Amino acid sequence: MTLHSAYDPDNIFAKILRGDIPHIGVYEDEIALAFMDIFPQTYGHTLIIPKQVRARNLLDVPSEKLGPYMERVQRVAIAVEKALKPDGLIITQFNGSLAGQTVFHLHFHILPKFTGARLKPHAEGAQADPADLEKLAERIRLAF
Ligand code: AMP
Repeated sequence: MTLHSAYDPDNIFAKILRGDIPHIGVYEDEIALAFMDIFPQTYGHTLIIPKQVRARNLLDVPSEKLGPYMERVQRVAIAVEKALKPDGLIITQFNGSLAGQTVFHLHFHILPKFTGARLKPHAEGAQADPADLEKLAERIRLAF
Protein backbone atom coordinates (compact mmCIF):
# COMPACT_ATOMS: atom_id res chain seq x y z
CA MET A 1 0.00 0.00 0.00
CA THR A 2 1.71 3.15 -1.13
CA LEU A 3 1.20 6.59 0.31
CA HIS A 4 -1.09 7.41 -2.62
CA SER A 5 -3.45 4.43 -2.86
CA ALA A 6 -7.21 5.02 -2.64
CA TYR A 7 -8.95 4.75 0.74
CA ASP A 8 -10.25 1.18 1.19
CA PRO A 9 -13.67 1.30 2.93
CA ASP A 10 -13.17 -2.33 4.01
CA ASN A 11 -10.05 -1.69 6.10
CA ILE A 12 -10.23 -3.11 9.64
CA PHE A 13 -10.81 0.23 11.35
CA ALA A 14 -13.60 1.19 8.92
CA LYS A 15 -15.21 -2.15 9.82
CA ILE A 16 -14.84 -1.35 13.53
CA LEU A 17 -16.45 2.06 12.96
CA ARG A 18 -19.37 0.40 11.15
CA GLY A 19 -19.74 -2.15 13.95
CA ASP A 20 -18.92 -5.02 11.60
CA ILE A 21 -16.16 -6.29 13.89
CA PRO A 22 -15.86 -5.87 17.66
CA HIS A 23 -13.55 -3.58 19.58
CA ILE A 24 -12.77 -2.91 23.23
CA GLY A 25 -13.53 0.77 23.50
CA VAL A 26 -12.24 3.35 25.96
CA TYR A 27 -13.69 6.56 24.49
CA GLU A 28 -16.11 7.60 21.76
CA ASP A 29 -17.76 10.81 20.62
CA GLU A 30 -18.79 12.29 17.26
CA ILE A 31 -15.16 12.99 16.32
CA ALA A 32 -13.16 9.92 17.33
CA LEU A 33 -13.15 6.40 18.68
CA ALA A 34 -10.43 5.02 20.96
CA PHE A 35 -9.95 1.33 21.71
CA MET A 36 -7.40 -1.19 22.90
CA ASP A 37 -4.87 -2.54 20.40
CA ILE A 38 -5.38 -6.32 20.34
CA PHE A 39 -1.68 -6.92 19.54
CA PRO A 40 -0.28 -4.57 22.19
CA GLN A 41 3.32 -3.44 22.08
CA THR A 42 3.06 -2.25 25.67
CA TYR A 43 0.68 -2.60 28.60
CA GLY A 44 -2.18 -0.19 27.82
CA HIS A 45 -1.47 0.22 24.09
CA THR A 46 -4.43 2.30 22.86
CA LEU A 47 -5.47 3.44 19.37
CA ILE A 48 -7.49 6.52 18.37
CA ILE A 49 -9.19 6.84 15.00
CA PRO A 50 -11.15 9.74 13.50
CA LYS A 51 -14.80 9.20 12.56
CA GLN A 52 -16.51 10.38 9.36
CA VAL A 53 -13.13 10.80 7.64
CA ARG A 54 -11.88 8.73 4.70
CA ALA A 55 -8.23 9.37 5.49
CA ARG A 56 -5.54 6.74 5.23
CA ASN A 57 -2.92 8.79 6.99
CA LEU A 58 -1.96 12.20 8.32
CA LEU A 59 -1.26 13.56 4.84
CA ASP A 60 -4.75 13.14 3.45
CA VAL A 61 -6.96 14.08 6.40
CA PRO A 62 -8.86 17.33 5.69
CA SER A 63 -7.11 20.01 7.74
CA GLU A 64 -10.36 21.21 9.34
CA LYS A 65 -10.86 17.72 10.80
CA LEU A 66 -7.37 17.55 12.25
CA GLY A 67 -7.72 19.97 15.18
CA PRO A 68 -10.76 18.29 16.77
CA TYR A 69 -9.23 14.85 16.22
CA MET A 70 -5.87 15.81 17.77
CA GLU A 71 -7.73 17.26 20.74
CA ARG A 72 -9.19 13.76 21.26
CA VAL A 73 -5.74 12.20 20.91
CA GLN A 74 -4.58 14.43 23.76
CA ARG A 75 -7.73 13.72 25.79
CA VAL A 76 -7.25 9.96 25.51
CA ALA A 77 -3.52 10.23 26.29
CA ILE A 78 -4.33 12.17 29.46
CA ALA A 79 -6.83 9.49 30.51
CA VAL A 80 -4.34 6.67 29.80
CA GLU A 81 -1.73 8.48 31.89
CA LYS A 82 -4.19 9.09 34.72
CA ALA A 83 -5.39 5.47 34.72
CA LEU A 84 -2.13 3.57 34.32
CA LYS A 85 0.49 5.99 35.69
CA PRO A 86 3.25 5.11 33.21
CA ASP A 87 6.69 6.70 33.45
CA GLY A 88 6.42 7.94 29.85
CA LEU A 89 4.09 7.89 26.86
CA ILE A 90 5.01 7.33 23.22
CA ILE A 91 2.45 8.76 20.80
CA THR A 92 3.10 7.68 17.26
CA GLN A 93 1.61 7.35 13.79
CA PHE A 94 2.84 5.68 10.56
CA ASN A 95 2.24 6.80 6.96
CA GLY A 96 2.45 4.14 4.22
CA SER A 97 3.48 0.50 4.45
CA LEU A 98 7.16 1.29 4.00
CA ALA A 99 6.93 3.40 7.16
CA GLY A 100 5.33 0.48 9.03
CA GLN A 101 1.64 1.23 8.59
CA THR A 102 -0.52 -1.90 8.43
CA VAL A 103 -4.07 -0.54 8.73
CA PHE A 104 -4.93 2.22 6.29
CA HIS A 105 -7.33 4.40 8.24
CA LEU A 106 -5.63 7.26 10.08
CA HIS A 107 -4.79 6.40 13.68
CA PHE A 108 -2.48 7.38 16.49
CA HIS A 109 -0.92 4.88 18.88
CA ILE A 110 -0.65 5.69 22.58
CA LEU A 111 2.06 3.52 24.10
CA PRO A 112 2.54 3.79 27.86
CA LYS A 113 6.16 3.19 28.86
CA PHE A 114 7.00 1.72 32.23
CA THR A 115 10.46 1.68 33.76
CA GLY A 116 12.16 -1.61 32.91
CA ALA A 117 9.43 -2.80 30.50
CA ARG A 118 10.45 -3.48 26.91
CA LEU A 119 8.55 -1.96 23.97
CA LYS A 120 7.61 -4.92 21.73
CA PRO A 121 8.29 -4.40 18.00
CA HIS A 122 5.56 -2.69 16.01
CA ALA A 123 3.09 -5.09 14.34
CA GLU A 124 4.80 -8.14 15.86
CA GLY A 125 2.97 -8.35 19.19
CA ALA A 126 1.06 -11.45 20.27
CA GLN A 127 -2.71 -11.21 20.52
CA ALA A 128 -3.77 -10.19 24.02
CA ASP A 129 -6.43 -11.93 26.08
CA PRO A 130 -9.65 -9.92 25.49
CA ALA A 131 -10.60 -10.32 29.18
CA ASP A 132 -7.34 -8.63 30.22
CA LEU A 133 -7.88 -5.85 27.68
CA GLU A 134 -11.42 -5.32 28.93
CA LYS A 135 -10.13 -4.84 32.50
CA LEU A 136 -7.53 -2.37 31.27
CA ALA A 137 -10.11 -0.52 29.17
CA GLU A 138 -12.40 -0.17 32.16
CA ARG A 139 -9.62 1.50 34.15
CA ILE A 140 -9.01 3.95 31.30
CA ARG A 141 -12.75 4.66 30.83
CA LEU A 142 -12.99 5.64 34.49
CA ALA A 143 -10.19 8.19 34.03
CA PHE A 144 -12.14 10.55 31.72
P1 AMP B 1 -0.33 0.45 12.08
O1 AMP B 1 0.62 -0.67 11.80
O2 AMP B 1 0.34 1.73 12.52
O3 AMP B 1 -1.25 0.65 10.89
O4 AMP B 1 -1.20 0.03 13.32
C1 AMP B 1 -2.29 -0.81 13.24
C2 AMP B 1 -2.50 -1.34 14.62
O5 AMP B 1 -3.79 -1.94 14.65
C3 AMP B 1 -1.50 -2.41 15.04
O6 AMP B 1 -0.84 -1.99 16.23
C4 AMP B 1 -2.37 -3.66 15.25
O7 AMP B 1 -1.93 -4.41 16.35
C5 AMP B 1 -3.72 -3.05 15.50
N1 AMP B 1 -4.87 -3.87 15.15
C6 AMP B 1 -5.04 -4.63 14.05
N2 AMP B 1 -6.28 -5.19 14.05
C7 AMP B 1 -6.89 -4.75 15.18
C8 AMP B 1 -8.18 -4.96 15.75
N3 AMP B 1 -9.11 -5.74 15.15
N4 AMP B 1 -8.48 -4.37 16.93
C9 AMP B 1 -7.55 -3.60 17.55
N5 AMP B 1 -6.32 -3.34 17.05
C10 AMP B 1 -6.00 -3.91 15.89
